[in-house]
Amino acid sequence: GSTIGILGGGQLGRMLAMDAARLGLSCHVYCPDPDSPAFAVAARHTVAAYDDAVALERFAAECDAVTYEFENVPAGTVEILTGRLPARPSGRSLAVCQDRKAEKTLVEGLGIGTAPWRPVDRSEDLCAALADIDTPALLKTRRFGYDGKGQARIDTLDGAHAAWEAIAAASAIVESLVPFALEVSVVAVRGVAGDFAAYDVVENVHEAGILRISRVPARIAPATAAAAVEIARQIAEELGHVGVLAVEMFVIRDAGGERLMVNEIAPRVHNTGHWTIEACAISQFEAHVRAVAGWPVPSTERHADAEMVNLIGADADRWRDFAAEPGAALHLYGKSDTRPGRKMGHVTRLRPRGS
Ligand code: ATP
Ligand code: MG
Ligand code: MG
Repeated sequence: GSTIGILGGGQLGRMLAMDAARLGLSCHVYCPDPDSPAFAVAARHTVAAYDDAVALERFAAECDAVTYEFENVPAGTVEILTGRLPARPSGRSLAVCQDRKAEKTLVEGLGIGTAPWRPVDRSEDLCAALADIDTPALLKTRRFGYDGKGQARIDTLDGAHAAWEAIAAASAIVESLVPFALEVSVVAVRGVAGDFAAYDVVENVHEAGILRISRVPARIAPATAAAAVEIARQIAEELGHVGVLAVEMFVIRDAGGERLMVNEIAPRVHNTGHWTIEACAISQFEAHVRAVAGWPVPSTERHADAEMVNLIGADADRWRDFAAEPGAALHLYGKSDTRPGRKMGHVTRLRPRGS
C-alpha cells in the first residue's frame, strides 16, 4: 500500500513519517492531541478520540495499512481497524505489550528469564506477593506506565500500603529490584513473511526512570549479545509480530558470567534505536515503514559506533550548542511546552566502528 496510517502523533510518529516520505509513501497520523509533533510532517492528520467510530472509519478508508507508535492506543481501536485493513503489528502485539502481566507471562512461557514477579490485583494480594519475592521491590501499574511513571519502590513490608496508594492503579505487578550490571535493548524487525533482522545490541543508561543515553555497541560478551538477539527473535515469532519491536533487558553479572532478564517489550520503534538514523544505512523508522508496507525486512547493518543522548526538559534550551558541535546530529521534536521530564529532542554522535 502507499498510505500508512499511524495511531499516535508523538516524536516516534514524526520520525516514521519523515522516513516514509523518503520512500515515496505517505502517512496519515491519527491522534487526539491537536499539538502532536507528527502532524507537522505527515501528509494528512486527524484529530479525534481513539474511540470515535466515525473518524476511525474515515481514517481506515484513506489508508492501506495501519500501525501504532505508542502502546497505549486502546486495543479496541486496533480491533475496529483490523476488520478493514492490515494492522501491523497486530492487535495481539499491542494487547500483550500494554499489559505487564500478559507480557511477563508470555516471556516466561518462552523459558526466558525475568525479574521475580507476582500479579497484584487487589491491595490484599500485595502482602502475599511480598512473602514470595524479595525486597527491595518495585510495584508497577499493569497498564499505562512509561518513563518510570506508575511505579513505586517498596523497601520493606511496612512500605507496601503506601506504595499501593501511590500508584493508585486498578491492578499492578510487583517485582524484585534486580542488581543489574547494565541495561541493554534489542531493536529488531520482523516482516510479513516472518523474516527477521536485529540491530546490534545497545547499552542504555536511565536516570529517574527516563532513558538518558544509549550507546552501541553494548559492552557485553559476544555470546550474551547473540543470546539477546535470539530472545528478541523468539518473542517476535511468538507474537507473530510485523514491524519493529524493542526488548529491554537487564544484564546480570556474577561468578557464572552474564545472564539476561527481560524487563519489558515495546511493540514499536523505540527511543533506544534512535542512533540507527545516523549509524545505519536503514534506520529503525525506515525498517518499520518497510515492514508495515509489506516489503521484505531490510539490512540492519551498522557502519559506525554511536552514542545518543536524550534532551529532556530544559536540556533542549541548549540546542544552539549542539547545533554548533561538529558532527553532532541534532533532532528537535517541535514540542512547544518544555515540561520537566519531557523528551524534547536528542543528539547522536558517531565514532568510527570499533574505535
Ligand atoms: P519505558 O519508558 O522504558 O517504557 P517504563 O515506565 O515502562 O519505562 P520500566 O522500563 O519498567 O518502566 O522501568 C524503568 C527503569 O527502571 C528501567 O529501565 C530500569 O532502569 C528501572 N527498573 C525497572 N524495573 C526494575 C527492576 N526490577 N530492577 C531494577 N531496576 C528496574
Ligand atoms: Mg515501558
Ligand atoms: Mg522501559
